[in-house]
Formats: sequence, C-alpha cells, structure tokens
Amino acid sequence: MRMRGNAGKTIFLAGVLTLCFFFTLSVCLSVLVQTAVDTQSITVVLDAGHGGVDGGVTGVNTGVKESEINLAVVKKLQVKLEAAGINVVLTRKTDAGLYGLAVKGFKKRDMQKRREIIERASPAAVVSVHQNSYPRSARRGAQLFYRADSAEGQTLANNIQAQLNDMPECVKKSTPLAGDYYILNCTEYTSVICECGFLSSAADEALLVTDDYREKLADAIYRGILAYLSSAASNR
Ligand SMILES: [Zn+2]
Repeated sequence: MRMRGNAGKTIFLAGVLTLCFFFTLSVCLSVLVQTAVDTQSITVVLDAGHGGVDGGVTGVNTGVKESEINLAVVKKLQVKLEAAGINVVLTRKTDAGLYGLAVKGFKKRDMQKRREIIERASPAAVVSVHQNSYPRSARRGAQLFYRADSAEGQTLANNIQAQLNDMPECVKKSTPLAGDYYILNCTEYTSVICECGFLSSAADEALLVTDDYREKLADAIYRGILAYLSSAASNR
C-alpha cells in the first residue's frame, strides 16, 4: 500500500511537472512569435550621405570619395539589419545622388528627396552615414551627432557611439554631440548622423578604404541600433 501510495504521488508529480513544462514551452514560443512580429514591424532608414556630383570629403592620400564609403557601409548594415528581421529603407541605393539633373539647387532637391523617403517610411530610427574631415590631420575616430532637443536621438547616438568606441581600432573615444543638420531637423523621427572616421587622417583613411574595416564599422553600428531598438521596445 505504501509503495503504491508513493508511486501514485510520483505519477501525480510527474504529471504536474509535464504540464508545467508544456505551459512554459508554450509561453516561450508565444514570446518568440511575438518578437518576430515586432521586428518585422520595425523600419530603419539608412541614409548614405552625398552621392553623384556631390562626393563629400575625399581621402588625403587616395582621393577616395566619402560618398563611396558611405554607400558601402550602408549596404553592409542593410544586410545585417534585414537578417535580424528589420525592415530597411535606403535613401540612396546607387552612386547617383537623388537630385535629378545636377543643375542649380541640386543639393536642396537631394536633401528634400531624402526627407520625403524618411517621411514615407515612418521609421523607428534614421541613421545617416558620413565620413569626416578636419584641418588638423591628427584628428581621428568616429563621432555621432543628434538633434539637441531629441532625447531619443541622443540615446540612439549613445548606443552606436558606445559600440564604435569599443572597436580595437578606436584610438579616440568620443561622446555624441548635438548638431544642427538638415537630416536631423527635417523630420520628427529619431535620427542620428554617424561620422565613421576622418578622411583627413591618413591612418583613418587607410582603414576606411578596406572592405574588412567597413564590415567592422557596419557590425558596430548594427549592434548599436539593435541595443537602442530593444531598450526602446522595453520602455514602451
Ligand atoms: Zn558627409
């Protein structure tokens, strides 16, 4: 009798444990499905700065155009974000600018087109990728900018900057700065400018011309965007 009683208890406990297991499993699965749905509904706009007749700043040794590096980094970033289930919209997909004919007022038309693309996408974040230049050639490293009155922009900038500062190649750790730039001001969406490095520095340029370093930059920016999106989601 006692043996049977214990066996009964054991069977009962096993049953309860099995039920608990399947309940936990179903909760986990529903969270996973929910997460998948959430990432699919998130859009990020990637803006490769300049393009066409506007090449941006150029490399001090190779003459490499900023516009070329910006697009290469953006395309690598697009692959990573899409692999994570995030919907990506590019303002510029080719070497060409967005201004139509390169006649009077082309820069203004180019920037307005970027604004229209951002407005249409209703993104959770806008990341505009650029390369920097400075009269003093010793100046190096990545620098993020956000709009002064945008707390979300500052948070996104902090997240990306932290990842870029963590790169072994990062010789100067920077803090994001407030900046008064069209791409940050033209919409209400959370936007940052990511200056990846200085083409006026021979050392930064030597890194920026390589596919390997562009991949590392894209990876760091990707991790920063994901960290921002997940913290933004948990604050909702
Ligand atoms: Zn630029």
